[in-house]
Amino acid sequence: MIYIIPTPIGNLEDITLRAIRLLKESDLILAEDTRVSRVLIHHYGITTPMKSFHMHNEHSKVGQIIDQLKGGKTIALISDAGTPGIADPGFLLVREALEAGIEVQCLPGPTALIPALVQSGIPCDRFIFEGFLPPKKGRQTRFLTLADEERTLVFYESPHRILKTLLQMLPLFGEHRKIAVIRELTKKFETTFRGSIKESISYFEAHAPKGEFVLIVEGKKI
Ligand code: SAM
Repeated sequence: MIYIIPTPIGNLEDITLRAIRLLKESDLILAEDTRVSRVLIHHYGITTPMKSFHMHNEHSKVGQIIDQLKGGKTIALISDAGTPGIADPGFLLVREALEAGIEVQCLPGPTALIPALVQSGIPCDRFIFEGFLPPKKGRQTRFLTLADEERTLVFYESPHRILKTLLQMLPLFGEHRKIAVIRELTKKFETTFRGSIKESISYFEAHAPKGEFVLIVEGKKI
């Protein structure tokens, strides 16, 4: 059995009782960065052995992990923050485990996109999660494809690309399109900017973007 276990995106209290129990009961925890996850593991007195599993070693390690699972081991997969597989490693292991006939369960729990979407004030009944935009090539094509989308759009973005992204969106999405920029969810400096794309540009020109960000963009009005 492999458990995919969401972990806090900032506030260490945001973890379920079941997640803590399963992390304690598993034979092995696979962590994206063991140094990052050690903080959480120590905080909750979890003593399960931990090994690294990230985008640079997942292809070479997945075979031996599948062998351990076939041998009857219970393994928990965690990432640095939030839900593994969501803009994080996890999909490869899920796919390979299922192909090998191993049961996979993902626990419900923290992820940045859902609280950002719900607190944005932009319709959250139908939405598209785009994750990170391509850093260089392909951004413009992606925006062109999305400009006519009627459902709410959700993006992850790094602080040094926020302004570039907003400036690229402006001519295609229109200056009045509503946006919410949610920063540092569950952390000390959590802030939510709500306004139009044009207003968000003025805001971030005056307030240098720092921390982790989710962008919620209203869909095109018909
Ligand atoms: N697996 C994570 C999840 O379930 O949300 C996402 C990991 S991805 C590598 C990191 C990105 O998620 C950040 O650049 C940011 O866009 C978003 N993110 C993660 N934690 C956040 C937070 N506390 N506040 C705002 N955005 C966050």
